[in-house]
Formats: sequence, structure tokens, C-alpha cells
Amino acid sequence: MGYVQGNENDGLAPVTSAWMHKLFEHSKTVESLIAEYGSPINIHHIPTFANKIDSFKDFFNKYDLRYQIFYARKANKCRSLVKQSFKSGIGVDTASYRELKQTLKLGGTSKNIILTSAIKTTSQINLAAKNNITIILDNQDECRMAQSIAKKLGKKVDVGIRISGFVVQGEKLYSRFGFDIDVAEKFVMDLIGQGKKFDRLVVKGLHFHLDGYSTFQRAKALSDLIFMANRLRTKGYPIDFIDIGGGILMNYLESESQWEQFKNNLKNAVKNGSEVLTFNGDGLGYQFISGKLQGTLQAYPYFNKIHELIFLKEIMEHKDENINYSNAERLKKQDLELRIEPGRSLLNQTGITIAKVIHRKMDAKGQWLIGLEMNMSQLKSSSRDFLLDPYILYKKEIKLEKPAVEVFFTGAYCLESDILLKRKVTLPMLPGNGDLIAFINTAGYMMHFFETEAHLFELSKNLVYMGTDGTPKKSDFLLDE
Ligand SMILES: *Cc1c(COP(=O)(O)O)cnc(C)c1O
Repeated sequence: MGYVQGNENDGLAPVTSAWMHKLFEHSKTVESLIAEYGSPINIHHIPTFANKIDSFKDFFNKYDLRYQIFYARKANKCRSLVKQSFKSGIGVDTASYRELKQTLKLGGTSKNIILTSAIKTTSQINLAAKNNITIILDNQDECRMAQSIAKKLGKKVDVGIRISGFVVQGEKLYSRFGFDIDVAEKFVMDLIGQGKKFDRLVVKGLHFHLDGYSTFQRAKALSDLIFMANRLRTKGYPIDFIDIGGGILMNYLESESQWEQFKNNLKNAVKNGSEVLTFNGDGLGYQFISGKLQGTLQAYPYFNKIHELIFLKEIMEHKDENINYSNAERLKKQDLELRIEPGRSLLNQTGITIAKVIHRKMDAKGQWLIGLEMNMSQLKSSSRDFLLDPYILYKKEIKLEKPAVEVFFTGAYCLESDILLKRKVTLPMLPGNGDLIAFINTAGYMMHFFETEAHLFELSKNLVYMGTDGTPKKSDFLLDE
């Protein structure tokens, strides 16, 4: 009975929501869900997602410009989130054949779907073209494919051109994606349009999606594309939108000082070869080589002051050198539609992952290892390690053990490296078999993006929760369909 946040003092306390706490208070319900659906389960709170969408809409409405938000569904597999996106009046960014096909089936149309895949197969382009979906083109071969498919279908296709290689403060931003900004405009003018090689393509917009999290780089890229859109329009191209992609920073943590403290402690631990902070002294990217601390933290920057709408505001209100108007004002004056494709940031606070404790053991170093029915691929992002403190849902009454117990959570893969959290977690009491461990804010990438079926483990089940006012009951949770 009762639940606690791991590392209650001096940890990395995640931002949590009321719906999560209400659920933890009714752990019997969670137990019955795990009993039915297996461990781990992913729970998605749809009202939170809907509220987040509304906050983004409110933000853009204040600028009084044309805009469209496309939820980047690659960040999470659930259909319910696609359905909610349409219900909330936003679009969906698809990045594979199956994402596109399923999104169409869920009610998407040419008005609210775009296709931005990194690799576009013939079947993808064919499906998009048949349904008049705008395709973001990345290279000349894609133009060729789109041209030939459009010709076969006897129609034209709307496209956006992905641009990269922006020069920011004298430095060119490399990307493997898109047309380089130095050649893109000439390419379009020489080859796309009436009487040209790609006469079936109608360039409706310009697009970028930048790596990293610099608002300045995005602001500069947007400014560059507003200029380019203008020049292309004067040549007769019906440029209607500029799409600035996703990558909007999100904040996961309650406290900046905890985050700074953690990074300092980690560096010191690596320098001193200490194992107090992480599993077997894992440096999480830092290494101590020939007397020097090297490497960088291999993790998402979990704390951010400039996140979500503040992040977007910096991009929108940026004024490029020698220009009297902000990006937002320029977009409005030139009647350009601004588009964004947020994945992770729209999913903030929407999901949690809960797993069951299967065994406890003390290793040869005297450390407690808590084995969960879950594996490392079910809590992973491209930026590697998940670092937030989990919540522990105890079946028994919590009795403070002295000293407090320190544990690591281990996973089901036959790999020494399957340590679900590399950070040591301090708890008031050793978890018992069948107790539940909840990982917070996992809906954006963490629960799905790298999940595999190694060992033939089944993929985790995805549940949707509408969050009623009363006590959460088992029947309030439905499989995502
Ligand atoms: C991944 C991706 C997104 C979404 O990025 P987030 O970081 O989840 O916001 C949007 N657009 C493109 C082209 C992408 O590759």
C-alpha cells in the first residue's frame, strides 16, 4: 500500500500529472491491468494529449496567422492519438507506408496528412499521390519517382521541398536530409513546373527539420525560407506554406538544480572511478581517459527552461539581422502558412510505462538488482539513456528501512547491458515480488521507438485512458484500437 518516487531526495524528480498520481493511489486497478495485459503496459491519457494540442493552437491563434500543426506520429504507435489529433482539428505527419495507410483509414485526408518519410518507396508515393497527400521531397530521385507515378495516375502531386545546409553564424549546418540550400532554388526553377522535367509536381511549400535543439538555428532557417518562398513566388511557384518540422524541446524535470547537480556528480564520479551514482560506474557517455574527462552526456537534455511554447516563441519572434519584422510578422504579411510537426513535445505528460517486479537479488558487489518483466528496448530513445526517477507502487505498507535501500532495475534480455535505469535508485523499502514500477512521461519515443521482439517477447500492450473524475476502474482502460 502506498507509492513513492525513487530517489525522493536529491534525485531527478520527473514532472508528473494529477492523472498519474490518481492512478498510483489506486494501484489495485493497475495490478489488474497488468494481470490482464501483461508487463509492461503503456498507459496513455488522451485528455492530456488533447489539452496539449489546444495549448499549441492557442499559441498560434494569438499570432493571427495561418498555421497547421501535424502531430508526428512516429513518436508513438497508438491509433488513438491519431484519432484525437483529427478530433482536435490538427493534422498528422506520417513517415512510412503503414503509418500513412493507417492514418488514412483513421479518417485522415489530403487536408490533414503529410508524408515526410526518410525513404520513400514507390508504394508510399503511389498511396500518397492517389490520396492527394502532400509529399515532402528530399532528393532528385524522389522527384523522378513522384513525377512518374503522377504521370501514370494522370494527375499532379503537391509537394514540399526539404531544405538543409542553412548557414548560421558563419557555420553551415550539415544534414543527410534534404536539398542543400545553395542548390535547392535553382533546382526547383530549372526542373520543376510547367514545361519542365518534373511538370507533374506542384511546389506548395518549403520544409526543414533540424537536428539538435537550437531555436536560433531554426529561426534563421525559417527566415531564409521566407526569403526563398518570396523569390519562388515571383517566378510563379504557388508557395503556400513553410514547414519548420519538429524537435521542439520538452522539459521532463521538476528542478534545474537537480539536473545540474546530477551532471556535476556524474562527472566527478567518472573522474574518481566511483560507482555510487550509476551501474558499475557507467559514465553515460563521459569517460576519464589519460587524466582528462572526455565525451558528452548521452541522454536527452531532460531539463529545459526554454521548452515547448517558449521555444516556439523564440523562433516566431526572432528578427533576422537588418529586418524590422519578426518571422511571425513576415509570415503573416506574406500570407504564408506556418506548419510544424511536433512529435515528442505534443506527447508531454501523456504516457507512462508500468512493469512488474519478478525477482530481487543481491549481486556479488552487494547491490540489489530488481528484475522487472520488461526489457531495455521498452524504455529507450535515440539519445540513449532514460534518467528520470521512477515511482514504486508497493503492495505492502511502506516501512522505512534504515539505512534506505539502493537498487538497480534490470531487464529481461540476456545481456549484461539490460539495465533499465543506469542510475542507482534509493528507496525507503525493498520492492517485493509483484510490486509495480512506473516510468514517467514515456509516450514520446521512449516506450515505442526502439521496442523489439527479441527473445520473442511480445510487444507491450498500449492502453488508452480517458481519465474520468471518479476512481480509475479497470474498465476505464481500453486497448488502443
Ligand atoms: C522526427 C521528425 C519530426 C518529429 O520530431 P519530434 O522531435 O518528435 O518533435 C518531425 N518532422 C520530421 C521530418 C521528423 O523526422
